[in-house]
Amino acid sequence: MRTDTAQPVRLSDYRAPDYLIEAVDLDIKLHLNATHVRARLSVRPNPLGRPGAPLVLDGDGLKAAMVLLDGVALDLGANALSPDRLTLSEPPRTAFELTIDTLVDPSANTQLMGLYRSGSAYCTQCEAEGFRRITYFLDRPDVLSVYTTRIEAEKAQAPVLLGNGNLVESGDITGSTRHYAIWHDPHPKPCYLFALVGGDLGSIHDRFTTTSGRNVELGIYVEHGKETRVAYAMDALKRCMRWDEEAFGREYDLDVFNIVAVSDFNMGAMENKGLNIFNDKYVLALPQTATDLDYAHIEGVIAHEYFHNWTGNRITCRDWFQLCLKEGLTVFRDQEFSSDQRSRPVKRIADVRTLRAAQFPEDSGPLAHNVRPETYLEINNFYTPTIYEKGAEVIRMLKALIGAEAFRKGMDLYFDRCDGMAATVEDFIACFAKVAGRDLTHFMRWYTQAGTPALSVSSDYDADAKTFTLTLAQSTAPTPGQPAKLPLVIPVALGLVGADGDLPLTTKAPDEDGGASAHECASGVFELTTASRRIVFHTVAERPAPSVLRGFSAPVKLDLDSNADDLLTLAERDSDLFNRWQAIQTLATRLLTTSVGAIRAGGLPKPDTRFAEALGGVLGAFASDPAFTAQAISLPTEADIAREIGRDVDLDAIHMARRELRRSVGAQLQPRLLSAYEALSNDAPYSPDARSAGARALRNAALDLICAGDARTGADIAMRQFQSAHNMTEQFGALAVLSMVAGDQREQALDAFYRTHASDPLVIDKWFALQALIPETETYERVRGLMEHHAFTYANPNRLRSLIGSFAANLTQFHAADGRGYDLIASVVMEIDSRNPQVAARLLGAFRTWRSMEAGRQAHAQLALKRVAATQGLSADVRDIVDRSLNLLTKERATDTLDSFRSRFSPRPAR
Ligand SMILES: [Zn+2]
Repeated sequence: MRTDTAQPVRLSDYRAPDYLIEAVDLDIKLHLNATHVRARLSVRPNPLGRPGAPLVLDGDGLKAAMVLLDGVALDLGANALSPDRLTLSEPPRTAFELTIDTLVDPSANTQLMGLYRSGSAYCTQCEAEGFRRITYFLDRPDVLSVYTTRIEAEKAQAPVLLGNGNLVESGDITGSTRHYAIWHDPHPKPCYLFALVGGDLGSIHDRFTTTSGRNVELGIYVEHGKETRVAYAMDALKRCMRWDEEAFGREYDLDVFNIVAVSDFNMGAMENKGLNIFNDKYVLALPQTATDLDYAHIEGVIAHEYFHNWTGNRITCRDWFQLCLKEGLTVFRDQEFSSDQRSRPVKRIADVRTLRAAQFPEDSGPLAHNVRPETYLEINNFYTPTIYEKGAEVIRMLKALIGAEAFRKGMDLYFDRCDGMAATVEDFIACFAKVAGRDLTHFMRWYTQAGTPALSVSSDYDADAKTFTLTLAQSTAPTPGQPAKLPLVIPVALGLVGADGDLPLTTKAPDEDGGASAHECASGVFELTTASRRIVFHTVAERPAPSVLRGFSAPVKLDLDSNADDLLTLAERDSDLFNRWQAIQTLATRLLTTSVGAIRAGGLPKPDTRFAEALGGVLGAFASDPAFTAQAISLPTEADIAREIGRDVDLDAIHMARRELRRSVGAQLQPRLLSAYEALSNDAPYSPDARSAGARALRNAALDLICAGDARTGADIAMRQFQSAHNMTEQFGALAVLSMVAGDQREQALDAFYRTHASDPLVIDKWFALQALIPETETYERVRGLMEHHAFTYANPNRLRSLIGSFAANLTQFHAADGRGYDLIASVVMEIDSRNPQVAARLLGAFRTWRSMEAGRQAHAQLALKRVAATQGLSADVRDIVDRSLNLLTKERATDTLDSFRSRFSPRPAR
């Protein structure tokens, strides 16, 4: 395990590798505790590197049995060969072959990085730096090699042997109980894309023919007995393969594409070339075990990993600082796929909810970092919402700025120009600058400046002149290490909504004060490139409601001076569905923040019947778009309100204000909610399609509000739904509503749910998660009790996230005023750190908003963090997060580390 002596890696220190490894021949003999790995590396000096430089290969806790240089054994002392490094101080000046034998213990690998056991199977995870736990290597993404992998195992234990690329040969080993398979991947790739699987697995198979006629064998491998649960994943795979051909002109490039689902996995899934390995949560689904949301996630994750074949694998990253190049872009691509398969506005609303819930708090707290970071201590900690979700938003803005046609041309040029390369963000952006004929230097600031910009918009209508003036202004608050911020290029999609809908946008020439270009008026996308801009619209016959940031055209915090009437107009008739939804959210957020103020001043919030009526209006139109209506009647979360308040946050007051608003809305709309609920009941067989899922989502959202308004009526209906449900969406939706009402009914339903699904780990994860999320003070004791439950384990990341991760997401209880929630999470982090540092560090990220809390909570959070910080022998992962959370900036710490360790450790090679 890398511990807290890790040293910072900096983008500015990047240097091309001194050596290249053109071919890798692996011979891997799988054994439970002593897997023998022989790696034959064809190495040659890199013409771009330093002639005669030492060759330094990375390792991580390795044991080398033997090292041969061109067939001759090397006698390497401890200086040249350690568990973390293999150094040849004077390697040959011409091409040579290095053969390295290592022994690894997959059964003892609890970090789930490198080669490990999940259930009864062998599998691997190499991104970001897991390959160095299998053999010594130049473990960096800009070293691309052609891999041939021979895998050997006990035939009874691992009848299925899978590798990257195409199967070349397989057979039994005569006179032995073992067998082997040889896989060859013709596409050069970095080692983080290496994978193998060996196990006794069930599978289903299908095939796909690409546009140019290549026949591809598709396989999905799962634990025996789960084969019936992969039909939807297979269907999603074929749909996304076709979509990538149509939307981006990208075809698949091997004869096989395999997916393996494993139950012990740190992340969601991994895009290894031709052999994707998945957390089984994102593969397995049956109507009785998976909710509509699970189905949507499966579709999205299958697509994401598949799309990486071009954005990530064929074109990879030069270094880990460019991680957003593959992740942000691929998230954008999977979002587009899901939008085309489902409802575009509903998908957009869901994605923006995720961005605001996960990325905005990161961007405004101690863990804020650029979409392209400039330094890191532990790269595992940079698989963040900023890299993924904000990275995707940056691509979306690029498309809005240059237009869909130029965007597609730019992508074509990127695929053409950078295929087979390890590229940078600059390489990528240069393609769009070229096709659009536009300087994108200013746009690059989105990659180099952290923090969420605030966009404030004020408006003025001149009835005599018939002009409507909008003044846009941007600013970004300081983030760690970046005290001063510069203006960004912000695409602001605008509309003016009048009594009969959208008004035409007319302005004067752009060189006149307040003018805009004809292109801006036609596209509705206006560019804010300076600190502020005034736009004057002419011949505006009536005072319009400004619809700003349509479709959420930029990842900013919008501060709009619209009054309640404007917002009600938008909620009713904005042609942009996203902004219709947003108007309702803004109205609710304003009511709630006012209520929180009243509660903290010792008063009570006043009910607002106008708001409930507006929601009722949306509900009235439910039949035309149930999925949208479900989103529209779901009020902002506690986290949304906490974020809006921003500082001195009191979560108990927020919870009370929200509960009160939901109570009054639910009570006022009860008859209409009940009739919508009844009208949406449906006995047709389950189908996961978007329309059916939308109807179920709205029915559950209506039930939730009914229960908020009248707990007894709501709980009775929920109990009936729970008992008669035909699918998991209905059953779990009802259970979620019941979980909010304390009493016997809740406990009975929870027990019944457990008994029904006890043998199904993915469903039991839901059972743990739901209980950990109950916003009551008793939840702390409930969670402590569940930690003793025989089905709970620290070893499985899904289970850990379901109970402990959900509790950390339970805002009122994790941030309990007495600090016990903080203590619980800190204790679990310390408990699991030595076993699985990646998961521990991720859990500790729950503290990212601690500085926005009121003083009492801040003090408790700081104490808990300091307790973690004082622990000896922390992993590099947790050390990095805890230091940054306490604002021990990387720079200060880095200097510190260098000074105290320089004498004892020779410096790491620059990367
Ligand atoms: Zn990805």
